[in-house]
Amino acid sequence: MRFRSFKPPPRRGPRLHLAALGVGLIALLLAADALARPGGGDTFSGGSSSSSGGGGGDAELLFFLIRLAFYYPQLGVPLLIIAVLYFTIKMRKRPAEAWSSQPRLAPPSRHAELEAIAKLDPDFSAIVFEDFVFRLYATAHQARSTPADLDALAPFLSPAVRAELAKRDPVGQTITDVVIGVMKPIAVQLPGDKQDGEVIVRLSFESNMSAGDRSYHVDEVWTLARAAAVRSRPPDAVRAFGCPNCGASYSSSDSQRCDHCGQVVDDGRFDWQVRELRLVQQTPLPPTQRGSVPERGGDMPTIVHPQLRARWQALCAADPALTHDRLRARTLLIYRELNAGWSELDPAKIRPFVSDGMFDYLRYWIDTFKRRQQRNVLKDMRVEKLTVVKVTRDRYYDAITARIHAVGIDYTVDAAGKTLRGSARAPRSYSEYWTLIRGATVRGAPRDEPSCPSCNAPLKISMAGTCEYCGALLTRGDFDWVLSKIEQDESYSG
Ligand SMILES: [Zn+2]
Ligand SMILES: [Zn+2]
Repeated sequence: MRFRSFKPPPRRGPRLHLAALGVGLIALLLAADALARPGGGDTFSGGSSSSSGGGGGDAELLFFLIRLAFYYPQLGVPLLIIAVLYFTIKMRKRPAEAWSSQPRLAPPSRHAELEAIAKLDPDFSAIVFEDFVFRLYATAHQARSTPADLDALAPFLSPAVRAELAKRDPVGQTITDVVIGVMKPIAVQLPGDKQDGEVIVRLSFESNMSAGDRSYHVDEVWTLARAAAVRSRPPDAVRAFGCPNCGASYSSSDSQRCDHCGQVVDDGRFDWQVRELRLVQQTPLPPTQRGSVPERGGDMPTIVHPQLRARWQALCAADPALTHDRLRARTLLIYRELNAGWSELDPAKIRPFVSDGMFDYLRYWIDTFKRRQQRNVLKDMRVEKLTVVKVTRDRYYDAITARIHAVGIDYTVDAAGKTLRGSARAPRSYSEYWTLIRGATVRGAPRDEPSCPSCNAPLKISMAGTCEYCGALLTRGDFDWVLSKIEQDESYSG
């Protein structure tokens, strides 16, 4: 299943710029690139930086170009500049490709633990934070064409960030269908012993969004800050972007102070504020390429959290009804229902088993398929292996991440039944990391049948996520484990 399917096919960006400058240099660069590929027995040892061989080839090429620039500046200098550009881009991209044949731990240099914030703020929940950030991201982009909408987000977006968003291409056009594929913490900085310090979090995003009939793939880095002394508000309080102090819907006559409570709230004193927003790239997506990415990464080593065992035991000790088998059965139920709902373009089937954010994401793709009169058919899908890799627990949620290896028939057809992608005959293997969440106070064996965990009636659920018989809200993990995240092998970093 292609949940991440919105990225343009990986292209060798630098090659385009180089095309005009001669085949010779391209050959050189590609040769260097080939040298950089792991596969000749290079290993990636957890903990060290992400250099994985090939550096020698790069250095040789650079040295050659420097000499060329010295002797034939007219040719050498431009080539050298391009080569430096090329390597800069390559270095930036390389971490995603680092791998080894050994199981490895999450390398700290690439992956930052949001959980570290709980040391300062015991009410901090990475799950609640991620949910907040997902919604803020979508809301900020949707607001960027309307100054008044942007100003209403002043407590959460610094003036610089709002200005940056307002001038983003296509200027003034309404942004719709913002869907985040990957959100990854890349740095978490605690203030140390400083009393008045701030917690800084840097996040990288890969997303899709549309403006009119155009769609874009967007890579961005966001830097958020919050005063170190702040304690997180409970999940319900952060669902709307109101005043971070009093919760009233935010308006301000001096664009700093909340009209309701009179506090200055646009400085991260009460809640997270985005201080800096860096656009890495924005690529227009040709309509035909939307949703077609070849599967890769299935044979990458499994990334296991260093404290998996201890945390899993602590979780099972708190809830003896939770066993590996029961969790597996629950995950397989979700897997089946998700595939069926996806394949039949029936979001109602999926609704009881996924978090709100996940549902928005899946429904976006189901709607897109419907609009295009296409269908992604999934048949004979089965999970061959399920490996629990990570457990996190905070004040509000428990979360379990498992890697699944699965296989099945996966193809896309148009209204006339013509196959557009994939194969209706050959099964395809793939692997993904699934994160399930459940309320931190909930206990009991995970269910593996589709009935309401509150009233036991057969599952019939509204789009808002409530049981139609008893009204219980099932999709925040208040009753049982629900799927909150699917990450692809190549983007999962622990
Ligand atoms: Zn207020
Ligand atoms: Zn019910």
